[in-house]
Amino acid sequence: MRRQSRVLSRSGLPSVETGVPRFSDAALASLSAGFAGSVSVAGTAGYNDARKGFMHTYQSFPQIIGFCVCESDVVAMLAFARDCGLRVVARSGGHSTAGYSVNDQIVVDTSGIAHVLIDRAARRARVGAGANFRKLKLMLDGTGLHVPGGGCETVCVAGYMQGGGYAFTSRLFGMNCDLVEAVTMVLADGSVARASAKKNADLFWAVRGGTGNQPVF
Ligand SMILES: Cc1cc2nc3c(=O)[nH]c(=O)nc-3n(C[C@H](O)[C@H](O)[C@H](O)COP(=O)(O)OP(=O)(O)OC[C@H]3O[C@@H](n4cnc5c(N)ncnc54)[C@H](O)[C@@H]3O)c2cc1C
Repeated sequence: MRRQSRVLSRSGLPSVETGVPRFSDAALASLSAGFAGSVSVAGTAGYNDARKGFMHTYQSFPQIIGFCVCESDVVAMLAFARDCGLRVVARSGGHSTAGYSVNDQIVVDTSGIAHVLIDRAARRARVGAGANFRKLKLMLDGTGLHVPGGGCETVCVAGYMQGGGYAFTSRLFGMNCDLVEAVTMVLADGSVARASAKKNADLFWAVRGGTGNQPVF
């Protein structure tokens, strides 16, 4: 009889053996079939570059990285994580100096959700989680619109805004998160929620300045 020891991590939750896939080939095939983006699995070509974030201080070896390009990809990754019993972290620019966008299980990468749609008349922009500030600033250029943004051009909107977002222009325009009117997010159960001052006000409050998720190892 094979004995399995149950290892508890610092959080008290069972830890998952690094390097031992927790999902079957069939589960991976099913995920890939309905996935608009792409996945990178440990041990396959390109994985080493895919796993690395901007902050090389934090080296991690997730079992799978989902490069999402749309909302349904994020929903699919969360369903996959639930089915396999793996935990997720979200990653956009990978600039978290605290290492909050790495783990050894599943990384949901939203750098491919990078649209910037500007409505000049309404003086608003709709921006994807993975849009970086190089793109956002260049697209706002000449429109007469400005939003305080990251000093580093490859910092992405999702992490920056959730950390508050303080820029050289913040003394004039305030924190980035104070200029956000609404956020669309995928919740842990896979449902999609819209949060604003009028709708899901608690979520709206929490997402602006809460620093993003803090992974449990
Ligand atoms: C070189 C450099 C310059 C910086 N300059 C500034 C600056 O001028 N002003 C300032 O205020 N800050 C600055 N920062 C800090 C930066 O804003 C934060 O590290 C920010 O969290 C980075 O966001 P990211 O998306 O690039 O990082 P990530 O590491 O990808 O994400 C950061 C956090 O957000 C979460 N997250 C990412 N994407 C999503 C998503 N789609 N949905 C939900 N959660 C998500 C992650 O899980 C993590 O908790 C700088 C950091 C660096 C490394």
